[in-house]
Amino acid sequence: MPIAQALDSVDWTLARNLGILLVVVLWLATAFWVLKDARRRIADAWLVALATLVGLVLPFLGPIIYLFFRPPEYLADVRERELEIRAMEERLAELDRRCPVCRARVEASYLVCPVCTTRLKQACPSCGQPLESLWQVCPYCATEIPPALPALDEVSLRPRRRRASD
Ligand SMILES: [Zn+2]
Ligand SMILES: [Zn+2]
Repeated sequence: MPIAQALDSVDWTLARNLGILLVVVLWLATAFWVLKDARRRIADAWLVALATLVGLVLPFLGPIIYLFFRPPEYLADVRERELEIRAMEERLAELDRRCPVCRARVEASYLVCPVCTTRLKQACPSCGQPLESLWQVCPYCATEIPPALPALDEVSLRPRRRRASD
């Protein structure tokens, strides 16, 4: 039965070619997955290229090796967590205001430290409310703050720096 035999071998060749094609597609897909995953986890472009190369040059084994060594977190998650931590620190700093000279706890509304009498803030020349050093206008009475008022950093922080260097 030569015809049947020939048909069999054609079937076999076709199956083999399809199998090879499938393996190649799978190989390229896993390498592409490594590229995509590495870009979400690694900031350095050279390391992303290296990971992709490992995934491509070592078919199937490369992506498994990459799985062992890839960073555990996505870059977006890391960034989000850092922002959360910074916001939390700012909130804590807001709650824990201290005199820069004697470290006594002070309120945001204090003009002068009640313990060591260091001037903490300038008072508004019009309404007397405490002003932050960056403000150019009083938010309570809309009076413009003359730039002649010395910045707080120069007034109250200098003694501390001098003390710290002693
Ligand atoms: Zn003080
Ligand atoms: Zn004012």
